[in-house]
Amino acid sequence: MNQLHKMTAESNALFVSRASSVPQEHAYRRGPRIVAIETVVPHDIMPGLLAVRIHTDAGSVGGVPVIGHGETYYIPTAAAAVLHDFMSHRLLGSDARAIESHWRFLFERMTAFGGTGAEFRALSAVDVALWDIAGQLAEQPVWRLLGGPVRDLVPVYNSCGGPLYGRTNRQAPTSVGWPGHGDSGQPGPLEDNYASVHTPADLAEELVQLGYKGMKLWSFDAVYRRQGGHFLSAKDVREGIAPFEQIRERVGDSIELMLDGHGFFSLAAARRIAEGMRAIRPLWMEDVLRPDSVEAMAAFRAEIDVPIAVSEMLIMADHYRQVLDARAADYVMIDPTWVGGITATRRIADLAQLYNVPTLMHDCTGPFTLLAGINVAAAHCGVAFQETVRAHIATLYPLLIDENVKIADGHIAIPTRPGIGARWLPELFQPEHPGYRRSSL
Ligand SMILES: [Mg+2]
Repeated sequence: MNQLHKMTAESNALFVSRASSVPQEHAYRRGPRIVAIETVVPHDIMPGLLAVRIHTDAGSVGGVPVIGHGETYYIPTAAAAVLHDFMSHRLLGSDARAIESHWRFLFERMTAFGGTGAEFRALSAVDVALWDIAGQLAEQPVWRLLGGPVRDLVPVYNSCGGPLYGRTNRQAPTSVGWPGHGDSGQPGPLEDNYASVHTPADLAEELVQLGYKGMKLWSFDAVYRRQGGHFLSAKDVREGIAPFEQIRERVGDSIELMLDGHGFFSLAAARRIAEGMRAIRPLWMEDVLRPDSVEAMAAFRAEIDVPIAVSEMLIMADHYRQVLDARAADYVMIDPTWVGGITATRRIADLAQLYNVPTLMHDCTGPFTLLAGINVAAAHCGVAFQETVRAHIATLYPLLIDENVKIADGHIAIPTRPGIGARWLPELFQPEHPGYRRSSL
């Protein structure tokens, strides 16, 4: 090669490396390498869940095999297909620690075809598992790799789901069967959804005694299930507000109150709910209005006198940016296993912090969603509250993970073991299980 050709080749290479957002071929090929990806849908425990394990050739660290644990929730077989049929081609044989490179490459490839559903859920599960691997290899909790800690204890509130919420439709016969619709629950221990409507003051008293600083009710769900969300009569509004009034009467201001409307209501109905909730002084109302239009959300927030949380139903970072720009939210709610994992959650929390808007971490969707939220909260000053469902932690998570999350005095202590803080129970990953898939080198 003559000197001119050599200079041209070098400048071309420089141009390509600077101009292309696609990672360089060799950069993600170092190692330890990803050698296998396993997924399973635990139908008999949480049928909406996709449990993911990513295996490497790193062997063991501290006597523990290096395996990444992640998850996502909702149409799990679709997310599994994205992972095995599409993403595995990039991941298998690649550097398990090249998290940013994999995130950006998969994001660019999947959004080239408009993929913001199962694709984002699969990417989220991969990202959480890769952060877990990075933590195990570094022999540090994930929050340490994110620059934490910013706190020792993460404040949590109790969302009033019951043990059967999100479990199986067979065992929850009152459920209409669609994720996000929930069920009205039944009398019994930890049936917080049922109790929050039928004996709300007793439930609030119990939660206050346990040290919780906040509780979230879904007291308008029944109205929606009965008649839809377009119109609420004054009587319907009184029905949804009554549990809040009973709680205030019994425990006063000793616990913060929140309402989740699950995106069920039209603007007219949401206005009536807001009117009724004003006297309750909730910490926030969440998704009483469907988050379909940023303009509608901004107008709604401007005309009511109740703080608004928006919304785990958003996925792309730019959706959050639009909401923040439009001043449509007092809080942003993020689900780490929907928006693109720990990587994307941290970016969105950074974005919200620019606007002085606190971040809330969503849960209700599985143990690694909760642990991902806890790890981000441990490393990000902008996180105000982590959602938890004590019924799930007590009844479902022991069937799924090897070290349960503990809530004490309204807080979760940040995890101390290397990685994300727990591992899937190995017995969930049986090749003969009908929900099991594996891709390997
Ligand atoms: Mg919600």
